[in-house]
Amino acid sequence: MSDDTQTCPKCNSPYGYTDGQMWICPECFNEWTLEAQTEVADAPKFLDANGNQLQDGDAVTVVKDLKAGGTTIKTGTKVKKIRLLDDPVDGHDISCKIDGIGSVYLKCSVVKKA
Ligand SMILES: [Zn+2]
Repeated sequence: MSDDTQTCPKCNSPYGYTDGQMWICPECFNEWTLEAQTEVADAPKFLDANGNQLQDGDAVTVVKDLKAGGTTIKTGTKVKKIRLLDDPVDGHDISCKIDGIGSVYLKCSVVKKA
């Protein structure tokens, strides 16, 4: 293992060492697990521009002008019944239909819950 030291999350000592299951800091005796370092458990996804959780079927409002193909989706455009994508397309995690434009992909960061 080349990666046998790790920065202590508590005191920032660079000398944290592992006994195979736990990481142990020799300076402040903090102990932490490998999982806690790598796991992004229940990281909030699908947060709108205001940090609100979006859900399938939500209605949202676009908060900035967006280029989509040859047209522009204007600020304030209402979008009904969004679908959230677990596998984003080019970083876009909302699939939806907009009247007059058709099917588009949006990012959660450019909409807010209506
Ligand atoms: Zn420490």
